[in-house]
Amino acid sequence: MKRKIVSLALAGVMCLSVTACGKNTLANNFSQYGVSIYEQTVYYIGNDGRLMYYDIANESSGILCFSPNCKHEFYDPSANSSPECNAVPKSESGFYSSVCTNGLVYYTTSQNLSACLYEYDCKNDTVDMVCTVDNFEPQGLSIICLEDKIFFYGYEVKIDNLNGSDSSADWSVYCYDTQKKETEKVLTVSHISNMYLHDDEIYICAMQRNEDDENADPTFSTYKYKKGKCEKIFDESLYFYNNSKGFYETKENGVLNILEYDFKSGKTRTVAEGNPYYAYGDYLIYGIKESDDNISFFKYNSTSQKSESISFNSVVISYLDDNYVIYSEIDTYGDDQHTYICNTDNFFQNEEGKLIS
Ligand SMILES: [Zn+2]
Repeated sequence: MKRKIVSLALAGVMCLSVTACGKNTLANNFSQYGVSIYEQTVYYIGNDGRLMYYDIANESSGILCFSPNCKHEFYDPSANSSPECNAVPKSESGFYSSVCTNGLVYYTTSQNLSACLYEYDCKNDTVDMVCTVDNFEPQGLSIICLEDKIFFYGYEVKIDNLNGSDSSADWSVYCYDTQKKETEKVLTVSHISNMYLHDDEIYICAMQRNEDDENADPTFSTYKYKKGKCEKIFDESLYFYNNSKGFYETKENGVLNILEYDFKSGKTRTVAEGNPYYAYGDYLIYGIKESDDNISFFKYNSTSQKSESISFNSVVISYLDDNYVIYSEIDTYGDDQHTYICNTDNFFQNEEGKLIS
């Protein structure tokens, strides 16, 4: 599991470098890290790194391996170098993200400096490595399934700079076609901070360094992928989004403003002062810092364009959609012993969820 921690740390460093430019300090609060929900079952990466499931209706959970007598033993370079269990990582790297579609769970790991995409058949309990990208380190924040294609992103490993994080590495999005069984590169930029699905289109939050001037501020942008085409649509990173709108923050004269971008009309408008935190359904959750340890939270309705004050304790959210939130308590992050699931609306009224693991 060592590699996983290093990669997360790198993501953190990238995040900080973004923050240093006064942008998107909370961009990665909500990561959808390794969690997917399909037909009332949650698929997630357990505290110990194994693939797990949680049945929402039955409130039961377990290891995602149905082989009788399997002990789900971990990878060990000397004692167990090719684990038979489908629910444990086949390398030291561990699993990154997963996405589930039609009874198949796709997940990424890295092995020998290559990104590997695995396809796990939940019904037959079989696993296949369906795609590899050499010299590429997948990153955990999201993996997306759109039609017959699986999208994942990460950074290109430069062989001549393997010691430590290379801040000049390029980040790319790859797409694996499950029908043609082919992989292609969709986009390369200086850094990718998020990728999300909205209305059958994929949005990619990107940062571009100024190659001519090291000291110049990087530029931010949002790309849209639709039907095989990837194009830049907006000169800001739309980190937060709900059913109809994207959100970003700007700082003007020392004041943080949240702006809303309408995906359909391309128009922008100012929503409020403050920091955007999460978006789902029609809503954007944002906060206003009252003092160092006190943030007031608000729920903004994109349709009525009105905000209301809400009661909400900050936690680490690993999954959020219109129906469910999966979160862990902030002081257990890293140790990650307690993961909860809650109805989304109740969650933002501070109701406690059910314990998953
Ligand atoms: Zn097993």
